[in-house]
Formats: sequence, C-alpha cells, structure tokens
Amino acid sequence: MILGHGLSIIGMWDKQGGISIHRGVLPVILLIRKRQMIFILLFCVFLAGLAAVLWHGNAAYTAVFAARDGVPVTVVIDPGHGGEDGGAVSSGGVAESRINLAIALRVNDLMRFSGQRTVMTRSEEISIHTEGDTMRARKVSDIHHRVDIVNSTENAVLVSIHQNSLPSSPVTHGAQAFWNQQEGAEELAVSVQEALNSAINTEKAKVPKRIPSTIYLMKHVTAPSVLVECGFLSNTEETRLLQEPSHQLRLAAAITAGCLACGAGEEGS
Ligand SMILES: [Zn+2]
Repeated sequence: MILGHGLSIIGMWDKQGGISIHRGVLPVILLIRKRQMIFILLFCVFLAGLAAVLWHGNAAYTAVFAARDGVPVTVVIDPGHGGEDGGAVSSGGVAESRINLAIALRVNDLMRFSGQRTVMTRSEEISIHTEGDTMRARKVSDIHHRVDIVNSTENAVLVSIHQNSLPSSPVTHGAQAFWNQQEGAEELAVSVQEALNSAINTEKAKVPKRIPSTIYLMKHVTAPSVLVECGFLSNTEETRLLQEPSHQLRLAAAITAGCLACGAGEEGS
C-alpha cells in the first residue's frame, strides 16, 4: 500500500519531466544530477514518503487541490508581514516576517519542483503596500494587495505562512494549520496538519482550527485557504529552531506534502 502510493508521486514527475517510471528510478536520479538538484531530490524522497504515509490513512481525501473546468490550481504562497511590518517578535528581537519568507520560498521551490503552479505575494523582505502616510495605512494597503493577488488568480489555493507568539505561555510550541470559510479549506488544513504532526509536532499532535473571522486576508479571499502558524516566537528553543534552514525546509516539505495530498492532478467536482 505504501509502496504503491510512493510510486504515484514518481508518476507525477513522469507527467512533468517526460520520465517514465517503467524505465526505473535510476534515469530519474541521473536526470536530477544533470540538473544539479540532488539536494531537492532528497527532499522530494522525503515528500514522497510523507505523502505515502498520509495517503495510507487518508483514502477518502477530497480533491481540493485539483483542476477545475480545465484550469489547474495555482497556489498563492503568502509569507505574512514584511518590511517595516515584522509581525510577531521574539524577546531576543527575531521578527516573524523573515522566517515566514524563508519558509515560503522553500514551499515555492518544492511546489514548483513537483509541477505545481505557484504565485508568491512577496519574494523579498518588503511590504507590498502602494500607499499610506502612516504605518497603519500602509498595512491596510499591503493586505488589500494580498487579497487582490489571491482573488485575481484563477482556481487559487492560498497558503499563508506565519509564526505565532504567546508570551503568557513560554513553553507552548509547535505548528498549527487554520482554515478559512471557503469550501475545501478545512480538508486542506486537516491534511497539512497531519503532515505537520508527522514531521514537526512529533511529541504532541496539534488539531487544526477554523481561523477567527478577524483575520482580514483569510476572510476576504475567495479561495480555499490555509494559514500555517509554523511555531512560537515566545518559545526560546523553537525560536532557535525556526531560524535553522534545515527546520525551515522540514516545515516547507510538510506543508507541501499536506497540500499535494489533497488531490493534485485530478479534476475537481
Ligand atoms: Zn503573523
């Protein structure tokens, strides 16, 4: 069962790269070497394994992540905050915006390598406002632009990346997914949470939740959306981990695998 699902991931590469699974795994490896992308292959093997585990226990998944009326899904990857808006900040001065961007860029790389269309709301450490005399006004302009990017993208799925903070409970840690009110978003968050629990929350699983209606972006986008709070900047050890590229990649791989387990490549209803 697990082997069968693992092969289906390689079959996905087959569609994108013209590599036949029937020729075996070796040509795939050789091609990847030619492209000097061994490091990505290693994490795709990780992704395949993770997705296999997910699919093993998730046979009745919903095709949230599927083409509709012939239009493939485009994942809008949103690194929260940016520029003068650093978001949550640790006691040592580490701002979430840079960590959000580092993880989001890795999600983008892994999604694209898997053949998934993507758009990023920002790919630099900037705010994307176009107007505003005050910081508050610039934040409003920034968030409106993010909504516009999502809502102008056909058959979009939004993946927003953030870091949490709960100074009243410095031991609290772990990654958690939140869904918005759009159809399919809950299934997406459940799938992403399963992947996060396997890869990140190994001591204690977290439960995905519906996002509060006060979160403007998630409320105003018309796409099924998941917001991932990757960890807590109020936890000293997790703040250290969140700055490590290996942990950022582990988070990105889990988020990507959780999304792709939601029916990539199938026609939605
Ligand atoms: Zn945030």
